Amino acid sequence: MAEQTTQKNEMKITHQQFKKSFGKRYDQLYCPKCGSQSMNLEAITYSTPFVKCNQCQHFFLMVGSKKSPESSYKEVELWHTAAKSDCQVNLPTPKEFHRFLDQYVIGQQQAKKVLSVAVYNHYKRLNNNISPNVTQHTAVYGDSYSNSSKEMSQGSDPSILPTMPNCCGIFDEWTTGDSELLQLTRLIPPSPYLSQQSLPKRSFRKNFRSDDDTAHLDKSNIILLGPTGSGKTLLAQTLAKCLDVPFAICDCTCLTQAGYVGEDIESVIAKLLQNANFNVARAQQGIVFLDEVDKIGAVPGIHQLRDVGGEGVQQGLLKIMEGTIVNVPERSSRRYRIDTIPVDTTNILFVGSGAFNGLDRVISRRKNEKYLGFGVTSSLGTGRRAVTAAGLANSSGVNTHEESQEKDKLLCSVEARDLIEYGMIPEFVGRFPVVLALHSLNEDMLVRILTEPQNSILTQYKMLFGMDKCHFSITDAALHAIAYKAIERKTGARGLRSIMEQLLLEPMYEIPNSGIIGFHVDKDVVDGKKGPQYVR
Ligand code: ADP
Repeated sequence: MAEQTTQKNEMKITHQQFKKSFGKRYDQLYCPKCGSQSMNLEAITYSTPFVKCNQCQHFFLMVGSKKSPESSYKEVELWHTAAKSDCQVNLPTPKEFHRFLDQYVIGQQQAKKVLSVAVYNHYKRLNNNISPNVTQHTAVYGDSYSNSSKEMSQGSDPSILPTMPNCCGIFDEWTTGDSELLQLTRLIPPSPYLSQQSLPKRSFRKNFRSDDDTAHLDKSNIILLGPTGSGKTLLAQTLAKCLDVPFAICDCTCLTQAGYVGEDIESVIAKLLQNANFNVARAQQGIVFLDEVDKIGAVPGIHQLRDVGGEGVQQGLLKIMEGTIVNVPERSSRRYRIDTIPVDTTNILFVGSGAFNGLDRVISRRKNEKYLGFGVTSSLGTGRRAVTAAGLANSSGVNTHEESQEKDKLLCSVEARDLIEYGMIPEFVGRFPVVLALHSLNEDMLVRILTEPQNSILTQYKMLFGMDKCHFSITDAALHAIAYKAIERKTGARGLRSIMEQLLLEPMYEIPNSGIIGFHVDKDVVDGKKGPQYVR
């Protein structure tokens, strides 16, 4: 019963969206076959607006009209024109991206530089690789359907046809009043005999000509690695704010190979499509941020079983990163039908990020082996779990400045083979030409993180106390003491917030409705030697 209600609601929404898209024209629909006005919208999904005639039971496909600027398909076209002119005239420079990131992220200059250049090149690549013609068709059908559908819809403007996933129909066109309807006479692929008859004469030599002087630009996927709480995810989130292309942050830890409990690998692209508001063309130009990519490292010795969450996921991601057509289940039909939207991943940029705990040990071992000579076996185990365990066993209680500097230095010299030894498969690592290490944050940087960014922790707490009409002040020495405590916790900038929470718990409890108009925190308060000084 509950299921039925949900289904009805879904239909209602789709129905309304459809009505909104086609406006008045929807009310003036007449069946092109029998002339009846009674149309049934039961079989409609948002991207495939089919109309069924109640009288003669014929199915029709609704086509957006050139006269209706409100049509969502028209919007696709407009977006492309705007994007194209933007790319040529008003493309933000890497320095502008860098400046934007500076407002939110402290330090990590090299990472900001690499990401800014990557995004700038991504824009340029889109501009170069996707010609306006292809764009218009992919905007509507997805690549795999563009050619066949183009032939089918001769006579009408193909750029205003709605998405037609997973079915290859043959259409006849009618124009009735202000509306255009396509009759769907067959939902199955045309017979091979038919397609043979209609094939144009082929020139088998035409592909040998090299008169196409525009080079195709390939993408350079990036892997960011660095200690936890150093700003990897923050960089991605900040970048997403200023981007003009869809951006999806996906967590690799919940991905599993197809057929196992967990999220399918295709869900990465589904998320991107969702963020692009189900606009296939936009999704095909997006950026996917794969967070916690180190957690899908293979674990040595598990090969007897199937490593469905580790190596299996890496293998599944290979094809998606290389460029393939991923069939994403359609939004409204996830449960009841198997409609899928094809998305081409060739131009999607992938940015991987992970802490890669213990990678520094792998690198240092590689470096030392050079001096020991070829063939010397190390007593340490290999792989993600072994190095992490060894790292934990060997680490001294306090993460000194020298220790983290040494780790940073080692991480800077990371090579693909280190990642392979860590548990990533060579084919996966090979698809990330740029490997970039983020540095750990020192005391000064942590103090800046507390105070400088637009949405800094200190600003947030001042705002919280401001709501109680109370002024909160803190000394520099106290800020440094907080930063030192955060370094001791080894959780990077993440530790700052929990320390602040502990420190300010008492004032947050005392102040509301107490007549306190301000309080001051100094180093002794942070060290726990005394409580904050209140001003009444
Ligand atoms: P990770 O590197 O583990 O992905 P995050 O980017 O999620 O770490 O950082 C956690 C929090 O720490 C962020 O929400 C942010 O508030 C703070 N932070 C971390 N690094 C920085 C940085 N470089 N500049 C400003 N804030 C940072």
